[in-house]
Amino acid sequence: MSRLRITEIFLSLQGETRTVGLPTVFIRLTGCPLRCHYCDTAYAFQGGTWFEIEEILKQTASYGVKYVTVTGGEPLAQKSCLALLNQLCDGGYEVSLETSGALDISSVDPRVIKVVDIKTPASGEVDKNLLENISHLSPQDQVKFVICNRADYEWSRDVLQKYRLPQVCDVLFSPSFTEQLPGQLADWILEDRLPVRLQIQLHKFLWGNAPGR
Ligand code: SF4
Repeated sequence: MSRLRITEIFLSLQGETRTVGLPTVFIRLTGCPLRCHYCDTAYAFQGGTWFEIEEILKQTASYGVKYVTVTGGEPLAQKSCLALLNQLCDGGYEVSLETSGALDISSVDPRVIKVVDIKTPASGEVDKNLLENISHLSPQDQVKFVICNRADYEWSRDVLQKYRLPQVCDVLFSPSFTEQLPGQLADWILEDRLPVRLQIQLHKFLWGNAPGR
């Protein structure tokens, strides 16, 4: 039997990515080896409750929606996450995985839509980026940069060009909620004609920073 440490399972509207606005079940796994300074889910670093995968599937099914996002913390820090993703796909859900980009994604079920962060310098965790992950991305996946300031923007623009990311998959630029004005980031993207999608975190505009929303 495979078990996972879970912080919360809840129904909400997807706040980010390509399925933004759609009712989605979130499965938040406990624990993360990173410490981004802007982290809004530090409550998931410790604690949690052990669940068998069967129990997670049962609770997910009880919400009756098609979209499921496995998030954290850093979900891939728990080995059984791979089995959970696999079984969710077998269950017919459209499954996405939100991951920090610091851990190997090569063994993730190919049916899963991977949303992979590339940590910027202002996150404090830029040295953790596992850039080999880029070679395991496919067009259905997405990479996400959380931008804290102009220097982060320019750094992200350089990475985008160096690795030709827009030719690999969708690229998301997301302003750090308390640090970067979304309108200013939008202006920079337009000035440079960058082929990236600006995303704001819908759930924070709807409900603030409340856990489980
Ligand atoms: S990787 Fe995500 S969960 Fe971990 S510290 Fe950074 S923002 Fe928080």
